[in-house]
Amino acid sequence: MTETDRRVLVVGGGPVGLMTALLLADRKIPCTLFEAEADLPTDLRASTFHPPTLDLLDRHGLAPKLIRLGRVCPTWQVRLHETHERAEFDLSLLRDDTAHPYRLQCEQGHLSRLLLDELKMQPEVELRFGASVLAAAQDEEGVEIELDGGERVRGALLVGADGARSTIRRVAGQELDGVTYPETTILATTDFPFEDHLPGLSNVNYVWTRHGTFSLLRLPDRWRCSLYPAATQSIDAALLPENLEARLQEIVPRPVPYKVFESRAYRVHMRIVRHYRVGRIVLAGDAAHINSPSGGMGMNGGLHDAFNLVATLDEIWNGAPLDLLDRYARQRRPVAEAEILTQADRNRARMQERDPAKRREMLSELQQIAADPDRCRAYLLRSSMIDGLRRAALL
Ligand SMILES: Cc1cc2nc3c(=O)[nH]c(=O)nc-3n(C[C@H](O)[C@H](O)[C@H](O)COP(=O)(O)OP(=O)(O)OC[C@H]3O[C@@H](n4cnc5c(N)ncnc54)[C@H](O)[C@@H]3O)c2cc1C
Repeated sequence: MTETDRRVLVVGGGPVGLMTALLLADRKIPCTLFEAEADLPTDLRASTFHPPTLDLLDRHGLAPKLIRLGRVCPTWQVRLHETHERAEFDLSLLRDDTAHPYRLQCEQGHLSRLLLDELKMQPEVELRFGASVLAAAQDEEGVEIELDGGERVRGALLVGADGARSTIRRVAGQELDGVTYPETTILATTDFPFEDHLPGLSNVNYVWTRHGTFSLLRLPDRWRCSLYPAATQSIDAALLPENLEARLQEIVPRPVPYKVFESRAYRVHMRIVRHYRVGRIVLAGDAAHINSPSGGMGMNGGLHDAFNLVATLDEIWNGAPLDLLDRYARQRRPVAEAEILTQADRNRARMQERDPAKRREMLSELQQIAADPDRCRAYLLRSSMIDGLRRAALL
């Protein structure tokens, strides 16, 4: 096998593929990253970074840079809009469990940009943007991918980090089993200072209203509002400026229109592949699991995949058997299923609840948890994804 054939091929230049490539470079493992787009995508995606993800990024000097670009949020809330009653969770209770006892609100594009800047300085990494992978095959010796245009590239191992519509997942014969929820969510950003109008508002808020639900997440210079169109409204109609305006006016009525910077619609799923590894092909991030953004765990979980996977690839690169890849699957898949998908599903179900009596019951339970330091710490260890990482290490 030539030196070129020993490269790890990473497909996908989202946060998970970029992180994987950088971690490989740290270990002096040559890799080539293929990204279909000509540049990094800039669409509105993740904004929540959980404490253990920042701890992992700290080891690579990325956390302080990211923190400078985002907003540190020491608390988060579930609240009733009309009465302002709330349960507030204080992440400082995790001060002995993490060096970052808070959520960071920061656009995922900032992390991608930081990762790309680092990657450009790594001699082991070849970056191929505008390179769409159409097909892949594997044999005893290695893997081979085919790019749009016909070029073929060989390598030793293939990481599919090519997102929810993954080509590599299809090549590996895997399907994202699960459900797609009925609702579509609209995400809009505005600079309106909600904090001056809603008493006791935190920087991260999941809110029940008489008619439905919304969430408000605060970035350094704007709020991200997740809104739900009326059942009778089409998605195109929901995205019209006048209809976005109507939704925002329901949060805080004001005489002048809201300034909306960006908006997008997205569907919400709970899906996971059966096998993370098929021979020399491994899947990571959204290519392997997708979940409701409620609780902000998808990208975080994908980054945790990358750290685990590269530790395993390093051992294989240094002579361990290929089957060690099963350890990655064994450690990460159950955690994605039980800690990420299930929790995100629970978060979504809680906020979709419409029955006022059940909401009150849930709020009261959450308030009791928040008021009890031991229960609250246990709850936060789980919702902040620390438990998941600890559990994976034991599997
Ligand atoms: C509105 C919204 C809010 C969210 N909020 C959060 C949050 O707060 N916290 C959180 O943790 N997660 C959140 N998520 C989820 C998060 O955005 C995803 O989990 C994350 O982007 C997954 O990263 P990835 O690298 O696996 O995939 P992606 O980011 O989808 O990247 C995949 C990349 O692969 C490329 N690609 C695809 N096919 C090919 C091919 N054939 N050849 C080459 N390249 C290819 C794509 O162009 C893309 O750049 C949110 C998602 C949405 C939609």
